[in-house]
Amino acid sequence: TPLILWFRRDFRLDDNPMLAAATATGRPLIPLVIGDEAVLELGAAPCWRMGKAIESFDARLRGQGNRLTLRRGDALSVLRALITESGACGVWWTRLYDPQAIARDTAVKTALTAEGYEARSFEGHTMAEPWQVETGAGGYFKVYTPFFKALDKRGVDRPLPAPARIAAPETWPESERLGDWHLSAAMDRGAAVVARYARIGEATAQMRLDEFLADGIENYREGRDFPMVNAVSGLSENLTYGEISARRIWHAALALETTQPGHSGAIHFRKELAWRDYAHHLMYHTPHILNRNWRPEWQSFAWQTHDDVAETWRRGRTGEAFVDAGMRQMYVTGTMHNRLRMITASYLTKHLMLHWKIGLDWFAECLIDWDPASNAMGWQWVAGSGPDASPFFRVFNPALQAEKFDKSGDYRRNLIAELSDDPFEDARRFFDAAPRSWGLSPRDPYPAPMITLAAGRKRALAAYEAHRARP
Ligand code: FAD
Repeated sequence: TPLILWFRRDFRLDDNPMLAAATATGRPLIPLVIGDEAVLELGAAPCWRMGKAIESFDARLRGQGNRLTLRRGDALSVLRALITESGACGVWWTRLYDPQAIARDTAVKTALTAEGYEARSFEGHTMAEPWQVETGAGGYFKVYTPFFKALDKRGVDRPLPAPARIAAPETWPESERLGDWHLSAAMDRGAAVVARYARIGEATAQMRLDEFLADGIENYREGRDFPMVNAVSGLSENLTYGEISARRIWHAALALETTQPGHSGAIHFRKELAWRDYAHHLMYHTPHILNRNWRPEWQSFAWQTHDDVAETWRRGRTGEAFVDAGMRQMYVTGTMHNRLRMITASYLTKHLMLHWKIGLDWFAECLIDWDPASNAMGWQWVAGSGPDASPFFRVFNPALQAEKFDKSGDYRRNLIAELSDDPFEDARRFFDAAPRSWGLSPRDPYPAPMITLAAGRKRALAAYEAHRARP
């Protein structure tokens, strides 16, 4: 009897505990992807990227004599129907930790178990499961550094090899065509634009890791804050779709530390990688981080919601060049350097005083590495409303940041056509990609700043002081 493997965000053969256990049973395996709301209702760029992950994983399975079955509908109905058709004994999957996935998976497990089928879930999305790293008192960590120390001390399990063979079922279940899911439909700026920058699939992710270990990680500690320096891994999009495992990456860095003790790049890199686990730890223990101020005292803060101001920020037209460059990079490439994520988020929440949720939603629309946990933690960290957050009074000054991290101005010139007579390619592409309704032209004068940096900072700090002084 076959076994159904329900893939969601674990599109890899390597270090996939669920797949390793399933192949060890010797049963024929039916790999399945369900087009439920968790897939079909993603933001434009992540939805497009999800389609690419599925397509690439299908090709990988075909190389092993197997293939993906695709079905749309709510998970439980799809699974019940496929079990009946295929005579499968049950369904296995890799656990996810956002509240919607937990609710869905719990309902599936309860129903299928009651009906006599095997419904089993496995670890694999993070290096440790959110409940495996605990404080001395048995709780969760409200601060990152002790979380990292506890994770490091506990150790990260060694990655598992890819299975040698993935046995196919005798007959293939009927599958929908991925094209009919229209996962790139919302990419009205043209998926081709983002496709130039994406690194899709397991093989590409592994190659990228090797490349980064050979050339990049050496300079990670010093170079990671400079958007034009090739010192970051760029593996977040692959981690988001599970095209590479965090354990594999962790152990690759650890191996460098063994051969070159005190390798500062590798140590620092593991510390950053663990932020992803921490984000999942927080999302699991305090799921309100996704949509409410994590610290309740921030609920009454005077966050503003002016649509026109938000729209100017989204379109990269604030007149603050470093901010606009970041926003345009995200729109054109589907990604944004971490330093710019912090600067654009700080500008929105502090200089413009808009609610961080406005930014969180736009990032969820535009980032190909979008992940609910890291995005929410990042936004609340910058806004000052989250755990272990940067204090509200720490306002990033985009002009000083540019002076420090883009001294040559190349990053800004690369992305802002109005600043040059002969703009670089990405700067021009932004105007090709932007919807006509935005009414933008590279020949328009570059806008004057929406608010002077000093005035924005002063207004934000005054609002903060008033908030603190409230009865
Ligand atoms: P590297 O520097 O090479 O780091 C390696 C890996 O460590 C990353 O791939 C990522 O998985 C993890 N990591 C590093 N920094 C962080 C961090 N601060 N938080 C969580 N994980 C981290 N990351 C996402 O993956 N998805 C998001 O939706 C997302 N939204 C963000 C929103 C805001 C406002 C901010 C400030 C940060 C956000 N981040 C998000 C975190 C970070 O910016 C990206 O993970 C990073 O830029 C990815 O580039 P990289 O793979 O080259 O990172």
